[in-house]
Amino acid sequence: MFDLEIENITAWIRDRGYPSVALQLPEGLKVRATGIAEEIRRATGADVFILGQPCYGACDLFTDYKKVAGALVHFGHSPIPSMGADPDVLYVPAFDSPDISSALSEAAPSLPGRIGLLASVQYVGLIPRAKEILESFGKTALAAVGDSRVVYPGQVLGCNCSSAEAVADRVDAFLFIGEGDFHPLAAAFGVDKELRVLNPVTGEMRSVEGVRDRILRRRFAAIESAKDAGSFLVIVCSKAGQDRSPEAERITSIIRSSGRSAHKILLDEITPERLQPYAVDAYVNTACPRIAMDDSVRYARPMLTLTETEIVLGLRSWDEYEFDAIRP
Ligand code: SF4
Repeated sequence: MFDLEIENITAWIRDRGYPSVALQLPEGLKVRATGIAEEIRRATGADVFILGQPCYGACDLFTDYKKVAGALVHFGHSPIPSMGADPDVLYVPAFDSPDISSALSEAAPSLPGRIGLLASVQYVGLIPRAKEILESFGKTALAAVGDSRVVYPGQVLGCNCSSAEAVADRVDAFLFIGEGDFHPLAAAFGVDKELRVLNPVTGEMRSVEGVRDRILRRRFAAIESAKDAGSFLVIVCSKAGQDRSPEAERITSIIRSSGRSAHKILLDEITPERLQPYAVDAYVNTACPRIAMDDSVRYARPMLTLTETEIVLGLRSWDEYEFDAIRP
């Protein structure tokens, strides 16, 4: 059961005397929004505003919240330290801690001797327990803090696996604790090591190798189909944690120096409908790299990450393919 920390939230609002508060929730928690708003309003007397825009990560932090409220409670993600701190924003990651003892004890004998531990933010609290279990089987288990895009040891974002990179040369394989493919795939793209995924809720242990290979085959096809492109639309995202304007400037100038045309476009939400009107041959996405990697089939023209664009332009080879991680 995800911990929505209602008591902490109401104490924070009361202690600081906020007369109003905005709530930002990811899609999966929006169904709880009205209930949470009601609990907060009753416990604090504060006026509560639910923010209705889509929210995919802390990168999506709604920085304009002061238009409607004195404070913001952001659910489902941890802060991104490199974005800077705002004392009027409270992050509620919605931690969960199901019992992984029997599932991991069953899997442990088949794991190699040195294991790097990774998790999505909801399950980072399980990493110490996973380490204890693995060590009881004589394994070495390591979890490191990544760069300043993440907060917790072992934490992985869909665009950043620096926690894995930090220990990659000291482990034989990684164990990722979390649900779904989105977060473990970042580690599967970013580090060249065996990766096992433990779903802490069902106890299922699996590999994402097949999904990773299927996506990489699609990326190869997108790169090949963009090689003859004469015009590119370079997408810059206005969301606080996805704005990579310097990288957009750099790639625009590289495209132009190759004799092709490049135009920059600023968007908040990137969708096929919003890009459809522009007469170009390919898109370069400097926003969330997973839009290009996971969702490219939805777009009418090839959508490339920054590193993929370098392959199209002949600046690196396919063998030098690199995950387009967002760095601080
Ligand atoms: S940029 Fe993409 S992967 Fe990274 S935190 Fe935002 S939504 Fe997640």
